[in-house]
Amino acid sequence: MENILVTGGAGFIGGNFVQYMVEKYPQYHIYNLDLLTYAGDLTKHQQIENKENYSFVHIDIADRQAVGELFERVDFTYVVHFAAESHVDRSITDPEVFIRTNVLGTQVLLDAAKSAEVRKFVHVSTDEVYGELSFDPTTFFTEETPIQPNSPYSASKASSDLLVRAYHETYGLPVNITRCSNNYGPYHFPEKLIPLTISRVLNDQKVPVYGDGKNVRDWLHVLDHCSAIDLVMHSGTVGEVYNIGGHNEMTNLEVVRTIIRALGKTDELIEFVEDRLGHDKRYAIDPTKIEELGWRPVYDFETGIAQTVDWFLENKEWWEKIISGEYQQYFNRQYARK
Ligand code: NAD
Repeated sequence: MENILVTGGAGFIGGNFVQYMVEKYPQYHIYNLDLLTYAGDLTKHQQIENKENYSFVHIDIADRQAVGELFERVDFTYVVHFAAESHVDRSITDPEVFIRTNVLGTQVLLDAAKSAEVRKFVHVSTDEVYGELSFDPTTFFTEETPIQPNSPYSASKASSDLLVRAYHETYGLPVNITRCSNNYGPYHFPEKLIPLTISRVLNDQKVPVYGDGKNVRDWLHVLDHCSAIDLVMHSGTVGEVYNIGGHNEMTNLEVVRTIIRALGKTDELIEFVEDRLGHDKRYAIDPTKIEELGWRPVYDFETGIAQTVDWFLENKEWWEKIISGEYQQYFNRQYARK
């Protein structure tokens, strides 16, 4: 049996990926390494927690000793690295933890993977490292687009991307970097636009929309992201970067209105709030390179968003627990400023 280390597997995308891998590959033992920050929870893994090919390890990726001991104990073939501080708004108010986890934590993992001579280190990054595009719909991020991050979050991710590249160039560590557009789907943490909107609309609460709502994002279902990472892990050319996106650009306002309509409510719930600082105008991915590797998304946005809304309706217990307590204070702090 081969051992696969997935970091950040208690979060949104890493959590979906862990479940996808445990079910799809009984010949792999999936180790889910996570610190369980505010964004991590293990209740989502009740279906797999007793499976023989799944284990959880409670570790901080920036804790060199703990990471080193884990690599001494387990012989990993692949590392798939999701663990990160991931929310742009939080990086604007408190950048420090983003540098610690996203930059230092990645370097600790790279050192461990290098010593263990893993077959592949897959670094899960974001299209936000490229900065922003204009509203010209014929322009896209390609793998050759210069790195020009604008937020502390994207700057910390870009820094980690550059370290991954350097470990490949300097030490020959076999790596891939993936840069995906915005994800949506089950277990999305309700601070991000889509689950925030669904949870607020379901509770008949106002939905805050930054600025004029015209910023454009390129949305991809989380399971399409998982299948892309699976493909890159097994078949990606070592040393290459792969952009992942499904050509599904929408303004934030269009996304919010789609959800409001799906839940039978009206635009009266929309509340425009002061824009995010340094708010990138538009992200859009050219996925040609990963398509040439054989990847295609299976979810169109209409079906994917309808299923996601249903999922949030059926799993109220999961997100209601999250939006009570500390989250409420975060929400008030974030949207109280005018
Ligand atoms: P998330 O915030 O939902 O989950 C992050 C997970 O990492 C949590 O379980 C958290 O507990 C864990 N974590 C945080 N700090 C840690 C540390 N020091 N040690 C160990 N674990 C730690 O994030 P997500 O939205 O699932 O994103 C996962 C990855 O995908 C990130 O690297 C992010 O940059 C990237 N990404 C996200 C999107 C998106 O739309 N959400 C798009 C492209 C790329």
